[in-house]
Amino acid sequence: MKYYDVIIIGAGSIGLPTAYSLAKEGLRVAVVDKLPSAGQGQNKAAIGGIRATHSDPAKIKIGKASLEFIRRLKPELGEDVDFVEGGYLFPVYDPEIENSLKQLLAVQKNAGLNIEWLGPKAVQEIVPGIREKGLLGGTFSPNDGHLSSLKLAGTFFRMALREGVEFLFNTEAVGFEQKKQRITIVKTTKGSLPTSWVVNAAGAYGREVGLMVGTELPVYPDSHEAGVTEPVKPFVKPMIVDTKPDENSDNYYFYQSKDGSVIFCITPRPKRIGIDTRSTSEFLPMVIPRMLNLYPRLRHLKVRRIWRGLYPNTPDGRPIVGYDKNVQGLFHAVGMCGQGLMLGPGLAEIIARAISEGQQDHEVFAELSPYRDFSGQELLE
Ligand SMILES: Cc1cc2nc3c(=O)[nH]c(=O)nc-3n(C[C@H](O)[C@H](O)[C@H](O)COP(=O)(O)OP(=O)(O)OC[C@H]3O[C@@H](n4cnc5c(N)ncnc54)[C@H](O)[C@@H]3O)c2cc1C
Repeated sequence: MKYYDVIIIGAGSIGLPTAYSLAKEGLRVAVVDKLPSAGQGQNKAAIGGIRATHSDPAKIKIGKASLEFIRRLKPELGEDVDFVEGGYLFPVYDPEIENSLKQLLAVQKNAGLNIEWLGPKAVQEIVPGIREKGLLGGTFSPNDGHLSSLKLAGTFFRMALREGVEFLFNTEAVGFEQKKQRITIVKTTKGSLPTSWVVNAAGAYGREVGLMVGTELPVYPDSHEAGVTEPVKPFVKPMIVDTKPDENSDNYYFYQSKDGSVIFCITPRPKRIGIDTRSTSEFLPMVIPRMLNLYPRLRHLKVRRIWRGLYPNTPDGRPIVGYDKNVQGLFHAVGMCGQGLMLGPGLAEIIARAISEGQQDHEVFAELSPYRDFSGQELLE
């Protein structure tokens, strides 16, 4: 039986960059995934938003690290993932939302985020044609952006392979063997794999992996739908996020990708809890009127395709990151909610430093601990 320093469960938004970062630290790494190839879980459902604009300092820090890494991909590593630094705009038509976003600005700036409140005119300059009536302004973070989630997964997969990572696909982790409460073996559908460390990066199935050692991780997936239009000439740069809920939905967000398609998704209300990923006929009637009301310029675009995926959600909307306290050698990085793609590259570096050098990022590990009380709510979930 071949020994690995680290086995990662899940070749997704978190597992792929983590494999690369751990291998760069000189560790011998294997990734197991029950699906047939890389990024086939929820990574490919993500529409591509990459931001450091969060309400928690720990998430802002991780998001900034992700963006720094992504900016280096093309010039330093020769990898093009269609990244566009178009910024994130949260336009506001509601005084209550204006207040809460303005209050958040202090926390965000304190955490080093480049973000400003813009008046209505400045918002219209960034998004010409956005509905003028009732526009109060909005926050804009110019260093956020968007990219192709498929290309990012492919890039990390290739870079990890180049660093010597081994991928075992069609291989499901089904349990562990321990000696003196330390992981020694990952049991899979294809046999046993000896190791000293395991990273639980199983996404929407992170809770099930935790339960294999009796650890309760509150990851409860719910489904979200997304769509993509035909490509047209570039006309808008930022990701636009409307956080005002209506009767049937919470926030929705959209942007124009590098190839000209508009890509969009929405959070249904109430949440559709569970793991059903079949597209529904309710999605387009829910999202399109809201998008056209905000941005009438979209009205002639034709939708090409829709899909449905899962947010691996937690009760407070924050990820779960940290060591298992009962089983040595087990590290959890699950519950990424709607942000696994944007947190992956930054988190990977933090996890790699923790496992290879024992260097703990106390801010991140305290805020995102698997053992926190899960009260409160991340405001920009
Ligand atoms: C419509 C939609 C839009 C989204 N848009 C964005 C966005 O713009 N930006 C953003 O950052 N995020 C977005 N997300 C969220 C993002 O997709 C997820 O947060 C992210 O993919 C989760 O990453 P992960 O690595 O935890 O899980 P995944 O990418 O799902 O990877 C987990 C992997 O673990 C494997 N696995 C599970 N259990 C086992 C086991 N026992 N053995 C072996 N393998 C196992 C699975 O097969 C899977 O491949 C969106 C999600 C949806 C649905």
